[in-house]
Amino acid sequence: MTSDWQAALPLLKCPRCFAQLATTSSVATETSGPVEGLICANADCRLQYPIRDEIPVLVIEFARELPREEWQAASKPPSTNTP
Ligand SMILES: [Zn+2]
Repeated sequence: MTSDWQAALPLLKCPRCFAQLATTSSVATETSGPVEGLICANADCRLQYPIRDEIPVLVIEFARELPREEWQAASKPPSTNTP
């Protein structure tokens, strides 16, 4: 299933630091178990935005700052061009 916003994902930016956002499929949270969300690609920001009813909620107040380890586990490493 592809939501409309996923096509626009490259255009979405973190409202706090304006870095790119990446999808994550399973981030374990303390409260509700694995959830889908968008995470900020900025290692110094690490906000995770929830997706509600298939709509990403890019609101800083609703975002959660992931611990660094969790952020690294959740964020897919950017595609490197290492030969
Ligand atoms: Zn950010």
